[in-house]
Amino acid sequence: MASRTDLVEDLMSRFPHVPREAVIKEDLLRGGLAFDDSALTDNENGDVKPKSYFIFSFDHRTLPELGTAALRRPPEEIVLTGGPYGLRRTVVSVRTNPGSPYRVKSDDEGRLRLFLDDRPIAEVGLPPMPDYYRHTLANGKSVMEVAPTIQWGYLIYLTAFRVCQYFGAKEECQYCDINHNWRQHKAAGRPYTGVKPVDEILEALAIIDKHDTEKASQAYTLTGGSITSRVGGLAEADFYGQYAQAIEERFPGRWIGKVVAQALPRADVQRFRDYGIQIYHPNYEVWDKRLFELYCPGKERYVGREEWHRRILDSAEVFGPRNVIPNFVAGVEMAAPHGFTTVDEAIDSTAEGLQYFMSRGITPRFTTWCPEPTTPLGRTNPQGAPLEYHVRLLEVYRAVMEANGLSSPPGYGPAGPGRAVFSVSSFMDSLPGETEADRA
Ligand code: SF4
Repeated sequence: MASRTDLVEDLMSRFPHVPREAVIKEDLLRGGLAFDDSALTDNENGDVKPKSYFIFSFDHRTLPELGTAALRRPPEEIVLTGGPYGLRRTVVSVRTNPGSPYRVKSDDEGRLRLFLDDRPIAEVGLPPMPDYYRHTLANGKSVMEVAPTIQWGYLIYLTAFRVCQYFGAKEECQYCDINHNWRQHKAAGRPYTGVKPVDEILEALAIIDKHDTEKASQAYTLTGGSITSRVGGLAEADFYGQYAQAIEERFPGRWIGKVVAQALPRADVQRFRDYGIQIYHPNYEVWDKRLFELYCPGKERYVGREEWHRRILDSAEVFGPRNVIPNFVAGVEMAAPHGFTTVDEAIDSTAEGLQYFMSRGITPRFTTWCPEPTTPLGRTNPQGAPLEYHVRLLEVYRAVMEANGLSSPPGYGPAGPGRAVFSVSSFMDSLPGETEADRA
């Protein structure tokens, strides 16, 4: 049987215009990586920034199955350079999988390396503990719990509501473990605030603002589970909007404000904008009609796919098409038993969705599917989607973007191999370097 190294090198040679960095990154994101105990962090007491579990688990095992990594967290991200493929600087979000052929460990000279099939393929850099993580709120909560940063410090990730009101098998999206992740952190006795009070978020942001003297943090994302009724007496637009309003009053223009929420009616979308949000992510999850209905039963029942898409287009009139950036979960198109069985079909379907939005000036983006084990799709597809799908998606994404005269979307930091910081897919690593987003 061909090794994983053979698979990776075959794809690198068949798709030479896709950066090698992106091939490795996609493989790490879809399949995870293992850590020697010596490469784990000392949680919030060490010199390495630990994995914050900012919304989903993004792991291939449940916490109790992670061994030492459940007690001493892995790093939030790693940065890869060098090695036999001559990798330029590549930031990768950490998805733990003790069974992965990728392993982070020290080599014979004590230097941290990424090994694939027991061969070192890159030097590994770890994220330093930011100064602001060394401070706590007045009530003792950590900044990492209330306002973690990802993407090498670029993005403050504010999961204000850590569960989703789409609940249970008939409503939860079939690839999403937000509710399980909540349960497992509670069961492990970890601090995990269900609804984050506005005051706590402001206090955590004040600590970040004070100690992030180099202004590495450039944006914040407000997000969490969908709200189908109310939380704290507020419906979705006002619940998430209240945080933006408070942040913009206290720190006007300090960060680019983004919200990931449902595709809401136009009046609600306008409220997001009035609250100070600049970028709106009404995620469409998967393009194919049949798969959307199967994979997103709650969204299909409460809103419906066609209405969801209509609202995305409407929101472009409120925010401007450049500032509407709906996400899809790359790879679920190929999940058994309902997904496409060939890469060609999956890519064709996904490209159709990209063209639908990009021809209207809206730039979707994607996160690479992590088949978490407690989700229905993760259970039946522990290997995720084929690496070839992910590599070809990068190719088609760039082609459709360029055919429509678009460039990398705003709010993602620099684009290009060796420069990108977006860590949960390699779409930014695969786009040309000097773009509008760089200058934003
Ligand atoms: S709407 Fe779907 S993807 Fe979003 S948090 Fe709820 S279950 Fe997860």
